[in-house]
Amino acid sequence: MARPSPRLLIAGALLTLAAAATAARQGSAPRAALPFTVISADARRPLAASLVGETVMVSLDDLAALFRLTVRDDAVAGGVTVGYKGRTIVLTAGQPLASAAGRLVSLPAPPSRDGRRWLVPVEFVSRALGPVYDAKLDVRKNSRLVLVGDVRVPRVTVRQEAAGAQTRVAFAVSPRTTYTVSQEPSRVLVHFDADALDASLPTFSPQGLLQSIRLSESGQTVTLDVGPRFGSFRTSTAPLEEGGIQVVVDLLPAAAEPTPAVPTRAGPPALPVPPLPDLPPPAIQPTAGALRTIVLDAGHGGDDTGVKGATGVLEKDVTLAMARRLKSVLEGRLGVRVLLTRDADQAVPLDDRAAFANNNKADLFVSLHANASARQTVGGAQVYSFSAGRSPDDARLAAMPPQVLPTVGGGSREIEMIPWEMAQVRYVSESASLAAAVEEQCRDRVRMNPRAVLQAPLRLLAGANMPAILVETGFLTNPEDETHIASEAFQNGLAQALVDGLLRYRDVAAQPRPRQGNAPGAGREPVRRLP
Ligand SMILES: [Zn+2]
Repeated sequence: MARPSPRLLIAGALLTLAAAATAARQGSAPRAALPFTVISADARRPLAASLVGETVMVSLDDLAALFRLTVRDDAVAGGVTVGYKGRTIVLTAGQPLASAAGRLVSLPAPPSRDGRRWLVPVEFVSRALGPVYDAKLDVRKNSRLVLVGDVRVPRVTVRQEAAGAQTRVAFAVSPRTTYTVSQEPSRVLVHFDADALDASLPTFSPQGLLQSIRLSESGQTVTLDVGPRFGSFRTSTAPLEEGGIQVVVDLLPAAAEPTPAVPTRAGPPALPVPPLPDLPPPAIQPTAGALRTIVLDAGHGGDDTGVKGATGVLEKDVTLAMARRLKSVLEGRLGVRVLLTRDADQAVPLDDRAAFANNNKADLFVSLHANASARQTVGGAQVYSFSAGRSPDDARLAAMPPQVLPTVGGGSREIEMIPWEMAQVRYVSESASLAAAVEEQCRDRVRMNPRAVLQAPLRLLAGANMPAILVETGFLTNPEDETHIASEAFQNGLAQALVDGLLRYRDVAAQPRPRQGNAPGAGREPVRRLP
């Protein structure tokens, strides 16, 4: 772009000021949001997104780089002109419209200034750029995809259900897409022959043999993490009326109840049966999903006292007392390894806390705190999990170019690198389930805040490479809470509730336990499930 004249600069600065003032008035300064992935036949590229009010916006500069557009400010009219191969799109400040090659199209919100950048609703891509662009452009907002040209991105809707000892996962796939299902030590991979998946995964709660459902980084594989009781799987396919297919994956237990003998009859051979349950254990023991190691983090410590209550109760003391109590209850009831980020009144840097959990390959990370409020009346416990929605790190994540790595056997594959500090983005939904399970168990035993389950972009949790929650045990600024939090009765009750919550999260049946062999009743114990 040519060097702008001083007059334009001043006009631009005034516009920026005006925009900033508007943004401040409406409380709508852009917040970072999870990035989109732009999928074309030959590449996957990230596209940073932000939220202005409730509208998902992308920057015109980013679109210009991705789609070879020119972006020209029209300072006098207060708008911007986007060019592509001699065709133009005109946007006017304050108007939720665009003129694309002379045709007016509507947008969910007007373009918005963010410093020197213009932000436009992501729908701009399909509605305004689509009509002037050489290839088809499609925005799949829910799965955060922008599709360029003819790419194969089937819609995949996943459901889970327990059926007796087995767990069924059903995939509605449209249009029909070929797939393969394979097994690894602690997971079953359902891979689709597609450029990406427009996937909608269930709000997951661990159930039966299934620990979690997630979309792989490559975006073409749905990973079913299975617990230690998992033995094998069975798949079947059926056409769907709407033209797609339904793929059913049945997860079968390893130490299954003895399969009732199928009466032998003349006729077609029986369906293939799962591998025999008496096989020796695999060389690699399944670990994913099992609760082996839990890291408890006593908030604050040393010079960092945290919140101080009116009668002198210090947050750093109650968090340590709680962590120790919880450790002994967890070890006693679950027989798991419990590690504390600190076991003394000492300072531990914020980033070292999640790093400690990562280094110890913890399966869960639970941080304990006590809250403060300017209003004394505010009280009760709260359970937080991480959300990336407003984290400034999000923009960095989105800005990182995909890395191309050589693969064994030649060729290369593209993987998305997640910065270490953002490890938690993979566990957002699992952590939310964990928070919900813990809150549910706390509800009956501990006074809860009206807003008891929350998500926030907490830096403490961002680096944890496992499901993670932060429990605010109550408000030390609330006199009643202060008395409670310091009391043994409250701490015991909360510890019990937390243990039950963790158990609730990871189905009791998935816990490693002494093998009962073929003792009578083995495999017949009642399985606790989430309702
Ligand atoms: Zn704290």
